[in-house]
Amino acid sequence: MVLADLGARLHGALNQLSRASVVDDRVIDALLKELCAALLESDVNVKLVSQLRTKVKAKVKKSLEEAEKAAGREANKKNVVQKAVFDELVALVDPGVEPYKPVKGKTNVLMAVGIQGAGKTTTCTKLAVHYARRGMKTGLVCADTFRAGAFDQLKQNATKAKIPFYGSYTETDPVAIASLGVEKFRKERFDVIIVDTSGRHKQESELFEEMVAISAAVRPDMTIMVLDASIGQAAEAQSRAFKDSADFGAIIVTKLDGHAKGGGAISAVAVTKTPIIFLGTGEHLNDLEKFSPEPFISKLLGMGDMQGLVEHMQDIARSNDPDKQKDLAKKLEQGKFTIRDWKDQLSNIMSMGSLSKIASMIPGMPANMLGGEGGEEEASSKLKRMIYITDAMRQDELDSDGLIFVSFDKAGNPIGLNRRAKRVAKGSGTSVREVEELLAQARMMAGMAKQAGGANGWMSAMQKMQ
Ligand code: GDP
Repeated sequence: MVLADLGARLHGALNQLSRASVVDDRVIDALLKELCAALLESDVNVKLVSQLRTKVKAKVKKSLEEAEKAAGREANKKNVVQKAVFDELVALVDPGVEPYKPVKGKTNVLMAVGIQGAGKTTTCTKLAVHYARRGMKTGLVCADTFRAGAFDQLKQNATKAKIPFYGSYTETDPVAIASLGVEKFRKERFDVIIVDTSGRHKQESELFEEMVAISAAVRPDMTIMVLDASIGQAAEAQSRAFKDSADFGAIIVTKLDGHAKGGGAISAVAVTKTPIIFLGTGEHLNDLEKFSPEPFISKLLGMGDMQGLVEHMQDIARSNDPDKQKDLAKKLEQGKFTIRDWKDQLSNIMSMGSLSKIASMIPGMPANMLGGEGGEEEASSKLKRMIYITDAMRQDELDSDGLIFVSFDKAGNPIGLNRRAKRVAKGSGTSVREVEELLAQARMMAGMAKQAGGANGWMSAMQKMQ
């Protein structure tokens, strides 16, 4: 998982809070101290960290006072603190600006800028694959004439990904290539045209001049700056320098798979009020994760990202087997999602590869599993245990929504899991707690389906998320 160490520390600190018998100032201070230390280690700017501390404290105080006033009794302090921490972490990575979203049926020109080595060419191909998978006709244009071999690299990547491309071995004017490429794809009614530009010149001013000239020629709908996570909080200065010359509307932070400083880069970018649209998480074409502040923090804290998971499953289904996708879509559309469906999805996940990355989207996965050494193995064994649980269920239980496992009191309030759940735990060699987790996950999936509003609602919700 991206920023696994930071995530594990933040998660650990919040766990300490859940375990505390009384939540007093001392406990809150200890939590904040650990949170701040973890953020600083990830190279988040000292000022931002200190602001976060102050804001969490103020928020907790205010929420407790308000709750007391409204209800005349003490609020659940743990929840209040947790929520304040969650909200402030989200604020730390949220620029508060919505990025441009390419739409099918019109020509969307995207231009990538950034210094050489940031991962521009790789990211352009990943982006092209992302849009092509969503049914958009996508083409790549190589406007980097400065670096010998740039066109070959793009050509190789594009061919591998089966993406149409445009470039030239003889033309030396990047503006001419960019214009010709965009024109060609525009005439052919491409939905998305991605222009890869040069990242180095003899002098920086020449690089910026070239970016401005290409931009003026192709008039991009969105200019994307590609930025290497390893520069940490220096991302702020670098993005400001680029923004001063080539105004860009979005950022992609790359190499988050290998850099503990990524937290610094992401929060520094938020300061420049530019939305991060994706994170690069590896060298492979599929290693591109959509970025939005809330799901990102939720995943980081081990709280999962069910929407992201469904989206990911849709992606995989799309690239492998369109029928599978239709099946899932239909069930969700009808608002019917049974434990059997969750079992099928778990089996799909098992066959997807890179389990620790995907597992981080499932709520309730232990934080120490989500990265680092052995993360993959642990993810796999945890997922296997979940499958064992479903294997120990009877047919009618699998086809249920899970309520069959719950005991209710006379007034109809749930009071815990019943004997069936105990039988399943025993039969699968797991614990009742694990059965409960699995039921909660299935319930969340069902909840998402209902939320999307039944027929067609789900599909349109999915499209909105893309
Ligand atoms: P450009 O000069 O900006 O076009 O950069 P390239 O696309 O040529 O990438 C430079 C190097 O970074 C290559 O070795 C890529 O494989 C690698 N790279 C790009 N994105 C990522 C990423 O998200 N994670 C990792 N680990 N490597 C990446």
